[in-house]
Amino acid sequence: AKNAGRGRVEVYDDDLRQALAAQAALEDGLRRALVEDELVLHYQPVTDLETGRVRSVEALVRWQKPGEGLVPPGVFIPVAEASDLICDLGRWALKTSLTQLAEFDAAGGPGSGLKVAVNISGRHLRSPRLVDDVRSALEASGTAPQRLALEITETVMVEDDAAWARLEELRAIGVQIAIDDFGTGYTSFGQLARVPVDVLKIDRSFVDSDDPRTVELVRLVVGAARSFGLRVVAEGVEQASQVHALQAVGCDTAQGYYFSRPVSADRLPAAVTGCHEI
Ligand code: C2E
Ligand code: CA
Ligand code: CA
Ligand code: CA
Repeated sequence: AKNAGRGRVEVYDDDLRQALAAQAALEDGLRRALVEDELVLHYQPVTDLETGRVRSVEALVRWQKPGEGLVPPGVFIPVAEASDLICDLGRWALKTSLTQLAEFDAAGGPGSGLKVAVNISGRHLRSPRLVDDVRSALEASGTAPQRLALEITETVMVEDDAAWARLEELRAIGVQIAIDDFGTGYTSFGQLARVPVDVLKIDRSFVDSDDPRTVELVRLVVGAARSFGLRVVAEGVEQASQVHALQAVGCDTAQGYYFSRPVSADRLPAAVTGCHEI
C-alpha cells in the first residue's frame, strides 16, 4: 500500500512538472509572439437593435502561431494573466486597436467612425500603469478618448478602491468603461447604481436561455441599467429568436455570430455592412 501511495505521488509530481513546463513554454512563446508580431486583433461588430447599424466593435486577440494557425485567446490569456505579460498584451491591444481605428477612418467607407472596445485584465486594472498606458495609446494614434471603451469583467470590479479611482480617472478623460460578462459574478443591483461604468454587457449564458425566468431577469437587468443611465450589450446572440426576445425587453445593442463572427481587420468593412439587416 505504501508503494502504491508513493507511486501515485510520483505520478502526480510528474503531471505537475509537465503542466508547469508546458505553461512556461507557452509563456516564453507568447513573450516572443509579442516581440515578433505574431498576435493579431479580430473585430466583432456590435449591432444597434433598433436601427441595425454598427457603431462599435470589440477587439479580440488571436495568436498566429507559425505552422499552427490561429490560436484562440482561451488557450493563452490565462497563462498571460499569471504574470505581468498580460499588461504587455493589454498595452499592445490598446495601441494596435487604436492605430487600426485611425486606419479605418483614413480608408473611409463602412469601417470609418467606429468605436472600439478593448478587453483589459484585472491584473492590468490593478497596475498603476494602466492610466498612462491608455493615455499614450490614445496620443500615439491621435484617437479621441470617446471612441475607446475598456471591457472589464464583473468579478474584478467589485472590491478594489485604487482600481475604481483608475476607472474614474479614465472616465473623466472620456474613455468608456464596460462591465464584461455581467451576471456571472457577484455585482448586486445596489452596486450597479454606484460602479463607475457606462456599459453593461450581459453574458451569453443569459442570452442562450429559453427559461422564462431568465428572460424576466434580463428584462429586469435592462430596466435597471436604463434607470442608472447605462447602455446594454447582449453577448453571444446566435439566432433571430434571440434578437426578437432582446428587442422585446428593450435591449439596445447586441453582438454575436447571428450578426457576425469576429473578423480580421481587412474583412471588417464588409462585416459592418452585412450586419445591417436585423
Ligand atoms: P469575451 O470578452 O467575453 O469575448 C467574447 C467571446 O465570445 C469571444 O471569444 C467571441 O469570439 C465569442 N463570441 C462572440 N459571439 C459569439 C456567439 O454568438 N456565440 C459564441 N459561442 N461565442 C461568441 P474569444 O475571441 O475566443 O475570446 C475569449 C475570451 O478571451 C474573451 O471573452 C476575453 O475574456 C478574452 N480575450 C480576448 N481578447 C482579449 C484581449 O485582447 N485581452 C484580454 N485581456 N482578454 C482577451
Ligand atoms: Ca469582452
Ligand atoms: Ca463577455
Ligand atoms: Ca468572457
